[in-house]
Amino acid sequence: MLPRLLTTLPRATFNSVLISRSTLPAFYPSLFRFSHYQKRSYSYEQNRYQNQYTYKRFNNNQNYGNKTIWDILTDPANRKVLYVILGGGSLFYVTHLKEAPVSGRRRFIWIPRPIELMLGKSSYQSILEDTKHNILPQTHPVSRKVERIFAKIVEAAQKDPTVDRTLIDGVDWKIHVVNDPRAPPNAFVLPGGKVFVFSSILNICKNDDGIATVLSHEFAHQLARHTSESLSKAPFYIMFSLILYSITGVQGINNLLTDGLLKMPASRQMETEADYIGLMIMARACFNPSESVRVWERMSAFEKNAMGQGASLEFLSTHPASERRIQNMTSWLDKANTIYEQSDCHVYAGYLGGFQDMFSSSPSGPGLF
Ligand SMILES: [Zn+2]
Repeated sequence: MLPRLLTTLPRATFNSVLISRSTLPAFYPSLFRFSHYQKRSYSYEQNRYQNQYTYKRFNNNQNYGNKTIWDILTDPANRKVLYVILGGGSLFYVTHLKEAPVSGRRRFIWIPRPIELMLGKSSYQSILEDTKHNILPQTHPVSRKVERIFAKIVEAAQKDPTVDRTLIDGVDWKIHVVNDPRAPPNAFVLPGGKVFVFSSILNICKNDDGIATVLSHEFAHQLARHTSESLSKAPFYIMFSLILYSITGVQGINNLLTDGLLKMPASRQMETEADYIGLMIMARACFNPSESVRVWERMSAFEKNAMGQGASLEFLSTHPASERRIQNMTSWLDKANTIYEQSDCHVYAGYLGGFQDMFSSSPSGPGLF
């Protein structure tokens, strides 16, 4: 059930990580059709007139009559139109640069918040339908525990002066713990405040600070509107790919270049940012920042073990527990510890202690379920 769910849903809606191959068609059906049509059209032309594949650079005659996109772009007659488009585009770009909370990174977002919420709502209904038989009751101790931890993260974010309160206030937060031992470790927060945590990730989190690490990372994706940021870039990826195609005439290379030069760096940048924002927020929420390093070490060990068994895991494929990530978290610990110390955390120390290591103290080992 779950693997089907994870491969059919638009991934960017719930983890905001990247525009994946499966996301584009889901969110931009018309653009995808255009792209698909172009691809088929090229193939048709190739088969009809050439009867064999030949790759022609710069004088590719497979589109727009005898002109390539490159010819059109470099034609002096089109310069005025090009300048207007570039000028208008630059103005649109500059006026839609928004600052990310906590990290302060400026990025281009033009997708309106209501659309983001609409996508979140649609994903929520689908995920709820697929997981409803495994969702723990809201009154279950584990559900309540995860809910308490998440509430503290939200509360801490509200206290952060760099956070836009309109992204948090009035949101109808809801926590679902999915108790499915077959499901891969995963957790995510949807735009609109719906949180899903799969039981298998709780064993890797091991304690409250570990759960806070994962939840704050996912919360950070939503807070920084990474879903909208990814979607905002989609038209540029398509444009880049079309221009590349007109130059190289080879679709496979274009995909590699688009992924390697644009999509993957953007995805890594958002992952790193979610790590950073999440770490600062969990520290502000009085969770031990040092545990984040240990969580990703456990995740890394789990990943190596799972990969050794040939498993393909959704969470790990979008959240690589790399050495780089652990190094980053370690280098940010001083700052996180300072925030922790400034947050009157001694008030909560006794309260938190009672919940720590609940999972590891289970008589059946780390597995609760
Ligand atoms: Zn992530």
